[in-house]
Amino acid sequence: QKAEWAKLVNEQTVSKDGHHVELVANIGTPKDLEGVINNGGEGVGLYRTEFLYMGREQLPTEEEQFEAYKAVLEGLKGKPVVVRTLDIGGDKELPYLNLPKEMNPFLGYRAIRLCLDQQEIFRTQLRALLRASQYGDLKIMFPMIATLGEFRQAKAILEEEKQQLLAKGVTVAEGIEVGIMVEIPSTAVMADTFAKEVDFFSIGTNDLIQYTMAADRMNERVSYLYQPYNPAILRLVKMVIDAAHNEGKWAGMCGEMAGDETAIPVLLGLGLDEFSMSATSILRARSLISKLSKEEMEALALSVLNLETNDDVKAAVEAAVSKA
Ligand code: PEP
Ligand code: MG
Repeated sequence: QKAEWAKLVNEQTVSKDGHHVELVANIGTPKDLEGVINNGGEGVGLYRTEFLYMGREQLPTEEEQFEAYKAVLEGLKGKPVVVRTLDIGGDKELPYLNLPKEMNPFLGYRAIRLCLDQQEIFRTQLRALLRASQYGDLKIMFPMIATLGEFRQAKAILEEEKQQLLAKGVTVAEGIEVGIMVEIPSTAVMADTFAKEVDFFSIGTNDLIQYTMAADRMNERVSYLYQPYNPAILRLVKMVIDAAHNEGKWAGMCGEMAGDETAIPVLLGLGLDEFSMSATSILRARSLISKLSKEEMEALALSVLNLETNDDVKAAVEAAVSKA
């Protein structure tokens, strides 16, 4: 099997009936690039920038960030790189920010909420990203967006920083795509509205499942509620993909579900355009997709949306794939 996968390193990802999708990687630091390239990643679908801020005494400077973003963009030689702006809070703390303890950190002051409040942190990161943009195909993604107002505010700040850099004569790439993570149910439900203003969606199922099922993703006593195949989740995923396509935008997924062998056939059937996963899952996923017919998976996806439980969906997908 390993030998069969190795042949796929330089191949595109195409279903049995000729439908293309993109398989990209989740990374945390520029050091992860080697694994992306060796495993045939077609780009980066989620660069978690938190690691630049963690395990240190103070915020990273604009220069330090610029160097990291430039290294990733150059390392991928023009392949797409989706960089997620700071997603701190929840399970990831920064002691030097001296934030008060919260009763419900996953429902609290985190990610874009913190960035829109402490704008100097956000603006520094955006300047570093804009300055690095000329070195590759940068796409910028905002995490934990719950309302259209948050997206508009974040995008306006990005635009302000861009104009200020241009006024100083700094080169900034044209047409940088700006998208959001869909990881809060309100945003999935309103995806049709968001789709008119964002350039892309990336569905963050780790959090989307947590918030939809109201089950802390870190708490083992409620881990039975982490149900990626629950039709409640699949219906939300479908709403997001359909909303994107209705406006001519693309939809990706960067939660663990995107690399899950039981989920992939359904996601292919629902029309997901981009699957972002750990680099080591890419070749297996490419091999699996090459054996599936998109048209058959469309029929499977529509039928499982009407099943009753997570287990029912899992059984139906496994039965269909073993026949394929
Ligand atoms: C997600 O929520 O699915 C996601 C990809 O982000 P993180 O796991 O970093 O919260
Ligand atoms: Mg998340």
